[in-house]
Amino acid sequence: MAIQRTLSIIKPDATKRDVTGKINQMLERSGLRIIAQKRIKLSQEQAEGFYSVHKDRPFYNDLVNFMMSGPVVVQVLEGENAVKVNRDTMGATNPEEAEEGTIRAEVGLSIEANSVHGSDSEENARSEINFFFKDEEICP
Ligand code: ADP
Ligand code: MG
Repeated sequence: MAIQRTLSIIKPDATKRDVTGKINQMLERSGLRIIAQKRIKLSQEQAEGFYSVHKDRPFYNDLVNFMMSGPVVVQVLEGENAVKVNRDTMGATNPEEAEEGTIRAEVGLSIEANSVHGSDSEENARSEINFFFKDEEICP
């Protein structure tokens, strides 16, 4: 297995409830190293651009507004098979369907306010990391 990087976002529902540390502990316990991290407020342009793949979905406008409703923590995770390991650690999109012990099962509130984002492929991880981070901000 190869060492990969993936983009993670701790969403506003989680930053508002001060569970950033709990989520980071769950990520680190899965073997994912947090090699870059910053807490930011997304602009409308950033939120729309980041989720542009979903622009034709009925939930797009709500999702963009939700992602702007409070701070987010964007992070680069690194580790063996990091894209899949992070998706497994996150759990299913809908917290009600997420396996016990996953972040979304433990922390998520709803299918929208599901606490974390994670890249779904290595190719998307590369472009999502570049969306938020300059090379010099990543410190492995
Ligand atoms: P994932 O985050 O698991 O990759 P998607 O890429 O399908 O899921 O969706 C992106 C985000 O859009 C989800 O994490 C969630 O916040 C929101 N979302 C997805 N499906 C719905 C839905 N049916 N209703 C409201 N929000 C949704
Ligand atoms: Mg997705």
